[in-house]
Amino acid sequence: MPQPMNFLDTPIEYLKGIGPARAEALRKELSLFTFGDLLTFFPFRYVDRSKFYTIAGIRDENAYIQLKARLVRVRKTGQARNQRLIATVRDETGEIDLVWFQGIKWIEEKLSAQQEYIIFGKPVFFNGRFNIPHPEIEVPPEHPLPLSETIRPVYSTTEKLKSKGLDYKGIGKLIKNLLLNPQFEIKESLPPEIRKTLRLPDRQEAFVNIHFPPDQEALDHARKRLKFEELFFIQLRLAKQRTNRLRKSEGIRFQKVGEHVNNFYHHHLTFELTKAQKRVVREIRADLGSGKQMNRLLQGDVGSGKTLVALMTMLIALDNSYQSCLMAPTEILANQHFQTISRMLQGMKVKTGLLTGSTKPAIRNAILEELHSGTMDLLIGTHALLEEDVRFRNLGVVVIDEQHRFGVVQRAKMWTKNVKTPHVLVMTATPIPRTLAMTLYGDLENSVIDEMPPGRKPVITRHIDENDRGKVYTFIREKLQEGRQIYIVYPLIQESAKLDLQNLIDGYRTLRDIFPAPFTLGMVHGQMKQTEKEEVMRKFTQNQLQILVSTTVIEVGVDVPNASVMIIENAERFGLSQLHQLRGRVGRGGDQSFCILISSRELSAEAGKRLSTMVRTADGFEIAEADLRLRGPGDLLGTRQSGILDLKIADIVKDEKILRYARNMAHDIIAEDPDLKMKKNDILAHHLHHIEEQSLNWGLIS
Ligand code: ADP
Ligand code: MG
Repeated sequence: MPQPMNFLDTPIEYLKGIGPARAEALRKELSLFTFGDLLTFFPFRYVDRSKFYTIAGIRDENAYIQLKARLVRVRKTGQARNQRLIATVRDETGEIDLVWFQGIKWIEEKLSAQQEYIIFGKPVFFNGRFNIPHPEIEVPPEHPLPLSETIRPVYSTTEKLKSKGLDYKGIGKLIKNLLLNPQFEIKESLPPEIRKTLRLPDRQEAFVNIHFPPDQEALDHARKRLKFEELFFIQLRLAKQRTNRLRKSEGIRFQKVGEHVNNFYHHHLTFELTKAQKRVVREIRADLGSGKQMNRLLQGDVGSGKTLVALMTMLIALDNSYQSCLMAPTEILANQHFQTISRMLQGMKVKTGLLTGSTKPAIRNAILEELHSGTMDLLIGTHALLEEDVRFRNLGVVVIDEQHRFGVVQRAKMWTKNVKTPHVLVMTATPIPRTLAMTLYGDLENSVIDEMPPGRKPVITRHIDENDRGKVYTFIREKLQEGRQIYIVYPLIQESAKLDLQNLIDGYRTLRDIFPAPFTLGMVHGQMKQTEKEEVMRKFTQNQLQILVSTTVIEVGVDVPNASVMIIENAERFGLSQLHQLRGRVGRGGDQSFCILISSRELSAEAGKRLSTMVRTADGFEIAEADLRLRGPGDLLGTRQSGILDLKIADIVKDEKILRYARNMAHDIIAEDPDLKMKKNDILAHHLHHIEEQSLNWGLIS
């Protein structure tokens, strides 16, 4: 069991070198509260101090170098604020000036003639020669240091901290104080067999060496150990949760597939399910009949037919006399689902309802009554479904559409609506790269619809220079005359919201001039009232507007099959998955659809890659992988809120190999010993317990 007060939980001000003021700054600026926080504040890079340059060997500006040289002379030039201190040093290859503009008096006192110094800084080329402004200088140590500094850690810091003496070296000193504290002791978290198999150093050694590695090899080992540990315990925890869920949480067993499913399938479905849809429905049916509670993630590109799968799942519930609900992230979407599903179920005896924030009280009350008495079979809605007084008689299935729009807390809440936990199907149109899914949704079952319904023509995507906008207008005109509808999307980034909004409004005016009546245009943006937005969207849906100019508010799955052109302005400012989502708005009808990405001519390398990826492929998974590689996991939709990806050292893209290893190992261990009760797993059980105590809210469905 953990000790009453862990050394690493000690508040940071008790560390040698940190008083109340520094403690406050460290908390505020870097969120460092405890010794443990400081210990896991890892260097973001290292400077190899074993390498020395010669003065004659300096070739470049802007790269840190290290010299060993003797001070030959010191002089001051200029007056008052223009004063500078110039110290000339020499090694066997030549001379170079070190220059200070500030702190002159202090430096001058420190310098002594003929002393040899280790000099560290960035050379600058000025007046035909190199000098080094504001270098760090120190006398070579006589005795080896207790903690090696050949490879010096560099920590991130802030101006505020620097003003309190905590530049990266200052922070390094604090960490050194921590490591040298006589009470500093780190408990091992991995059993010896795992360490032996993977040849990992022990934990304490790894923590010391990640900060002050004696050499490159020790640093590599320390890194590998800490990365593995970080990923392994996430996986172990997920594996344990999953096993526990499958073992303990009794699910409602749906024994039969009956009248409703069969009737729907044979008499109401106007098309054949795709192979992928059939496979997924089979997977879901197996879950529902297993007696275990289902917790399944359904991934499929926009338009791949997820709604139909959701509907079949809900009909299975109905065949077993259970209610179900479908929750969508916006009213527009909830409405759309309601209409689509009502249409599909026409002529069948299925009582379907719609509950959103704008449902009138009288209707709402009636729905609540029907839910409670059990006459309501299938309820569709927004987060309004989560309200306290929405009570089901027997909720059997919860479907959540576009899950990244919801906070995890909301998801978890659906569960309290029942005595027995309902089955959960989470649908997402933002494909999640494998590595991310493993980390983020490791305890969910995963289904993928990787096939589009037949007859879809792939959207033709073009990238156009903004100087060629004229061609785009000609194209728009053609399409309008064919009776098609058109989306034109502008970016809206929080930081430049005002400018962006102006940009959008200017764009709208220009378009109105170019396409005057009888053409019809509408505009939607985030500053508008919800009701106004919905009104414009409704008009567009009903083809009363031909062109919709908007910010990304239309990103979420609205379905207007007649809209066949998606034009994205400043496309370079959108993320890949956003572009993919936007493109998914078209290509829903039978006509050939187009996506035109307009950007400035000058593009960053990354933006160029994003746009060329879009032109090259329509495969959501390929795009998601590319996105993850380009931007890192932190920016992907939905990951930030989870906190799971606040990884301290591992990187799920770069460390995919370690991740897979960690996952397999965690699975094997849990398969053999689900509760970690075996003696050899004691150490794992203890550490996991400790982690669980630390993070009260892990934020997953479980
Ligand atoms: P998603 O929710 O995955 O974006 P939808 O379920 O809204 O996709 O389906 C998109 C469109 O494709 C709908 O109009 C739907 O009726 C149609 N559809 C779904 N499955 C098939 C199929 N197997 N064959 C033909 N059309 C289908
Ligand atoms: Mg959908």
